[in-house]
This record gives sequence, C-alpha cells and structure tokens, in this order.
Amino acid sequence: MQVHVADHPLISHKLTVLRDERTDSPTFRRLAEELVTLLAYEATRDVRVEPVQVRTPVAAATGVRLSEPRPLVVPILRAGLGMLEGMQRLLPTAEVGFLGMIRNEETLEADTYAERLPEDLSGRQCYVLDPMLATGGSLAAAIGFLVNRGADHITAVCLLAAPEGIARIERELESIGVPVTLVVAGVDDKLDENGYIVPGLGDAGDRLYGVVD
Ligand code: URA
Repeated sequence: MQVHVADHPLISHKLTVLRDERTDSPTFRRLAEELVTLLAYEATRDVRVEPVQVRTPVAAATGVRLSEPRPLVVPILRAGLGMLEGMQRLLPTAEVGFLGMIRNEETLEADTYAERLPEDLSGRQCYVLDPMLATGGSLAAAIGFLVNRGADHITAVCLLAAPEGIARIERELESIGVPVTLVVAGVDDKLDENGYIVPGLGDAGDRLYGVVD
C-alpha cells in the first residue's frame, strides 16, 4: 500500500486542535472538514481527467475536465460522514455511496449493516472516508466490499492511522490484489488495549456527533 502522510503546517495545526480534548463538537466538525479538504487535495492527485476545449474571452484554450465515470466518494458510517463535506468541497460532482460497518462481537470482524453503492464499480475511482484507521477491521472490510463489486482503484482518506492498522491492511491487500493508496494526516504511536489510537484524538464519532448510548 502506498502511504502518503500529508506533511503541511496547516494540516499539523488543525490536527493538533482536533486532538485537544477541550475542542468542542462544533469546532471539531468544522476543523475535520477543513482538514479533509486539504487531504482531498493530495488524495485526488491522480483523479482521471480528459482534455477539453474552452473559449476564453480572448482565445481558444485547452484544459481538462473530470472523466466519466465520475469518482465515487464512500464515507464509512458513522464517523466517515464527518469527512464528506470536506471531500465534496473539492470534488462537488463526485457521486456518493454509503457503507455502514459494525463490529460483530462474535467474530470480532466488521460486518456490513448498510450499503448504498453501485452494483458495478469497475472503472470507478473510489475514495473511502474513515477518520480513524485503528485495528484496520472496518477499512479492510470496506476495501473487500468495493473490490467484490469490481473496484480496482481505491484511495482511503483518514485523519489518523495506527501502525497496527496499516500493517493489517497491507497483509489483507496481499490476497486482495488491488493497489490501495492511503492518505492520512498523521501516523500515531500504537493502539491501546481498547483499540484506541495513542495519542489519537479519542472516539471520532463521539467527538463529531456526541455520545449516543
Ligand atoms: N476509532 C476512533 O474513533 N478512535 C480511535 O482511537 C480508534 C478507533
């Protein structure tokens, strides 16, 4: 897997405020969006375009436009929703699909509980949004799901990753056989015994939307 840790002072600044436990939910949501827009700039570096001619007020000019089929943005519910606006700001014409993943307490693997995605993803550039790449269970399951539908170009956009999660995705990709790029604002030290990223930023879903019991 190609791992791209976005290295920019504004990204580090926003990530630091997100980490701060004193940051309230409205500020957290706004900063997460801004951070994702910056990450999206990196993540879409290889988005497919095709040549197009336009007329300026002065002369003809050759430029580019996004190719068809349009890119597909896939937030993983629920916390990935907090990244959608930031991604759409840069890719307003992308289509959006949804994938809901939940941990199965018997198998300890991620199960799909909801999906709204095209049946055929061949030829689609897919951008998966998942703020925290912790154990890697839900992202690995999401990638497997997209590949089963024919996707062969997948970029994962995360706010933070743990080395254990990256290692798991890399292991699973060996059998999946589709190249995946990860764009992330930071790679932290480790996971704690509860599967939280250390130092991390806590539970991203709770910080975005509050605790739901
Ligand atoms: N999910 C989160 O929201 N935070 C973590 O640290 C790990 C998983």
